[in-house]
Amino acid sequence: MYKYRGGPRINYAKCTGCKNCYDVCPPDIFDFDKRTKQVTVSYPEECWYCGSCLYDCPAEGAIELELPLACA
Ligand code: SF4
Ligand code: SF4
Repeated sequence: MYKYRGGPRINYAKCTGCKNCYDVCPPDIFDFDKRTKQVTVSYPEECWYCGSCLYDCPAEGAIELELPLACA
């Protein structure tokens, strides 16, 4: 059974589609849709919670990182 354990969430109202998060994520949890020019969170369960996506996102509030309960 899949257990939700947090991960990044993208606010598409603020996201510019710059792909920085896609480019910097070490475990490659994001995908990029060339047609819509949007990044999607495809593998949230693979997130390391390193914070790189937040650090390199130029649009404030476009990405939020929800930590797993054990880290909250
Ligand atoms: S916190 Fe790190 S591992 Fe998780 S999505 Fe962001 S860049 Fe990837
Ligand atoms: S880095 Fe931020 S603005 Fe750029 S695609 Fe990712 S969420 Fe969107």
